[in-house]
Amino acid sequence: MSDHSNLRIASQVIHAGQHAEPVTGAVMPPIFTSTTYAQESPGVHKGFEYSRSHNPTRYALERMIAKLEGSTIAEDTDPSCGGFAFASGLAAMATALELIDAGSHIISMDDIYGGSNRLLQKVRQRTQNLDIDFVDLTDESKLRAAMRPDTAMLWVETPTNPTLKIVDIARVAQIAHEVNPKCLVVVDNTFCSPVNQRPLQHGADIVMHSSTKYVNGHSDVVGGILITGKPEIAERLRFLQNAIGSVMGPFDSYLTLRGLKTLDVRIRRHNASALRIAKHLEASELVDRVVYPGLESHPQHSVYKKQMEATGGGGTGMITFFIKGGLEPAKAFLETVSIFTLAESLGGIESLIEHPAIMTHASVPPEQRAVLGIDDALIRLSVGIEDCDDLIADVDRALEAASAKMGAMAG
Ligand SMILES: *Cc1c(COP(=O)(O)O)cnc(C)c1O
Repeated sequence: MSDHSNLRIASQVIHAGQHAEPVTGAVMPPIFTSTTYAQESPGVHKGFEYSRSHNPTRYALERMIAKLEGSTIAEDTDPSCGGFAFASGLAAMATALELIDAGSHIISMDDIYGGSNRLLQKVRQRTQNLDIDFVDLTDESKLRAAMRPDTAMLWVETPTNPTLKIVDIARVAQIAHEVNPKCLVVVDNTFCSPVNQRPLQHGADIVMHSSTKYVNGHSDVVGGILITGKPEIAERLRFLQNAIGSVMGPFDSYLTLRGLKTLDVRIRRHNASALRIAKHLEASELVDRVVYPGLESHPQHSVYKKQMEATGGGGTGMITFFIKGGLEPAKAFLETVSIFTLAESLGGIESLIEHPAIMTHASVPPEQRAVLGIDDALIRLSVGIEDCDDLIADVDRALEAASAKMGAMAG
């Protein structure tokens, strides 16, 4: 049976790791809700005992995402080919952290998703006694200074949220593995999806997704994924997924697999529209600065070119920009847009807009926000797949409203 891992990614998102259901030939996997499976004789069964441990619908999703991220673990070695689905992105992260022992040293990118930061600092520091260093991984010398022979995990997020810094995965994985070959390098790939970036190819040991975002893509399922290409890590993750039990349910697995089938076409539109809008904003005199991987002005544009796929645009649908005049014009912009919905989250088919300093990153102390560059003028866009001309008209109306506010402030 072909596993389709030789195909291009636009074909893989339809076929990788999928087979017709053996009894009926159903092309899409049924939603297997049964919690338990009949056994012929004690311990004699078809590979399925209890649904937390084994679920065919979840396996179908897990095999697909594992193959998209480039895992080569065969299905006869591991039923889900090194992919593991969880109830949320943070449940996936919490399970990954169980790979390391109490008291371990861990280095994390300084600018990570707020909930990931909270899990490390407010939970695992207390319950797992983790010794955590937050480091700007775009600066190699800072990583070299922080790495220790016993550093157990390097937690990378790239591009980061919301300042879209890009970490050179190959470089940081190489440095970490030089100092400690056993250091687990984990990359949160949520902002890219495997269509735009495949961290295993660059030397990461594990990829994590909040599948709530681009992977499912329809803003209707919360979920998380871990993928590894190493059989020994897959074996440990399989044990932990079952032992901890924060698994993705069969309905959510089905919906996420359904969402994945259109990943390539969705991402192409997200990327193309975001690149156009980023250029449009960069050309506006009402905007101080635009941060977008596909723009030459991005501080790590050269890393973007080597590490990410442009895929019809600029490598992601996420744009960050700083509007002139600070908070009041920013608010006017956010209140005026009508296609972009003012809301947290990202990566769905609908365009969203948010103000990190007041919304998603309000829990980050103001001093730390200043260090990370999250100021009151910063606006984050998640560009959806609507007609881009409509989105640009929406942005232009909001810029006019912001400009009127700036004029009123000056006058
Ligand atoms: C949303 C998000 C998470 C957390 O995932 P949930 O599915 O909300 O638990 C982690 N990392 C990044 C980059 C995210 O955007």
